[in-house]
Amino acid sequence: MTADVVIIGGGCMGASVAYHLAERGITNVVLLEKEAQLGIASTGRNAGGVRHQFSTEANVLLSIESIKMFEQFEDIVGAPIDFHQDGYLFLLAQPKHIEAFEEAVALQRRLGVHVDWLDAQGAARCAPGLNVDGVQAATFCARDGISDPNGVTMGFAAAAKRAGVEIRRNAEVRRILVDGPVSGVETSEGVINTRCIVNATGAWAAQIGAMAGVELPISPLRRHIFIAAPRAHAIWPSTRVLVIDFETSFYFHREGANLLFGMGDPTEQPGFDITVNWKVFEAIAPVAARRLPALDDASIVKSWAGLYEMTPDAMPIIGPTGPDGMFTIAGFSGHGFQHSPAAGRILADVIAGRDPKFDLSPFRLDRFSRGAIESEVGVV
Ligand SMILES: Cc1cc2nc3c(=O)[nH]c(=O)nc-3n(C[C@H](O)[C@H](O)[C@H](O)COP(=O)(O)OP(=O)(O)OC[C@H]3O[C@@H](n4cnc5c(N)ncnc54)[C@H](O)[C@@H]3O)c2cc1C
Repeated sequence: MTADVVIIGGGCMGASVAYHLAERGITNVVLLEKEAQLGIASTGRNAGGVRHQFSTEANVLLSIESIKMFEQFEDIVGAPIDFHQDGYLFLLAQPKHIEAFEEAVALQRRLGVHVDWLDAQGAARCAPGLNVDGVQAATFCARDGISDPNGVTMGFAAAAKRAGVEIRRNAEVRRILVDGPVSGVETSEGVINTRCIVNATGAWAAQIGAMAGVELPISPLRRHIFIAAPRAHAIWPSTRVLVIDFETSFYFHREGANLLFGMGDPTEQPGFDITVNWKVFEAIAPVAARRLPALDDASIVKSWAGLYEMTPDAMPIIGPTGPDGMFTIAGFSGHGFQHSPAAGRILADVIAGRDPKFDLSPFRLDRFSRGAIESEVGVV
C-alpha cells in the first residue's frame, strides 16, 4: 500500500492534521492509531481548557486562531464541541508572578486579546465560593473557556474520513523506513510506503523520533484530575469559569453537576505510568479546600491520570525533523488540546508547500541546539 502522507497518532493533533490536509485536497492519507479508539491518550484525559492567556507570542497567536475556529467549529467542521466561554481566572499571590503576568498581559493586549486585571474582590465576584485570602491580583479573559476534546478530535477525524482519509485503529507503528528520505512505516498490520510521515504521537513522540534517527526532547509526565461532588448547600460557581491558583497550580472548573480539579506535583518524575497516585490527592486536598471551601470533604466521584508531553521550554515542536519527509507535531507541554486547530492547520500548510503565514522559529527542533529558546511561563 502507498499513501501520500502517513500520520502516526490519533489524538487531537493527528486528527487536526488529517482534517487540514484533506481541506487542502491531500486525501491519499492514512492515519494510524495503536489503540482501539481515537483520542483516548492525553486528548481523552485532559481538562478541556482553552485560553488566550499565554506568555509567548507564538502561543497567544496559536490561541487566537484556534479559539476563532472553536467558536465556529460546528459550522466549519460539522460536529458539536460543547464550547463554553465563561472565562479563565488566574489568581496571583506573589510579586514575581504579578510581574510575569504584567508582561504577558501587555503582549496579549498588543495582539488584540481583551484581558482584564482584577483585584481580590473582583476575582471573588467571578467565582462565587472562592476564598481569595492572599490574592494580590488576578487576570480574567472572558473569551477563554472549556470545550470537549473528544468532540473536537472525532469532529476532525470524521470530516477527514468523509473527504477520503483512511483511519486505521489497532495499528501500531513499529519502524520508520528510510532510504535517504523516509520511505515508509512498518506497522502491526504491514508496511505502508510513503514519502511523508507526521509524528503526532504526543508523549510517545520521542520513541517515533528515535525510529527515524532523531532525538526529540519530549518526555511524558503524569498529571492527575479529580472529579468531586461538593457537599449540599456548598457555594461554588454556577458558570464554567476555569480558575487557576498560579502559585500552587491548583485549578478547577464546573463539570456538569460536579467540579473538576487538579494540580501539578513538583516531585513527579518522567514516565509512562498513568495509575492514580493517591498521595498526589493528599497533597492537593488541603490546597483545594482552602481556595474553594466547597471542596472540603467533597466526595471524589472519579479520578484519572494522563500524560503531559513536556519539552524543555514548554513549547511544541512543529515542522520537519530528521530525514526528508519526516515531520513532527508534538511536545505541547500540557496545553495542546486548545492549540490543535491552528497547529494542525500550520503543519498541513507546510506539508502542502503553502506559506503557513506563521513564524515557525519558536517551534523548530534546532532551537534547542542553537540555545534560542523562550520558555512559556503559563504552564500549569
Ligand atoms: C491531566 C491533563 C490535563 C490537561 N489539560 C489540558 C487543558 O486543559 N487544555 C489543553 O489544551 N491541554 C490540556 N492537556 C494537554 C493535552 O491533553 C495534550 O497536549 C494533547 O492532548 C496532545 O494531543 P496529541 O494528539 O499530541 O497526543 P495524544 O492525545 O496523546 O495522542 C497521541 C496518540 O498517538 C498514539 N500513538 C503513540 N505511539 C504510537 C505508535 N507507535 N503507533 C500508532 N499510534 C501511536 C497514542 O496511542 C495516542 O492516541 C492536558 C493533559 C493532561 C494529561
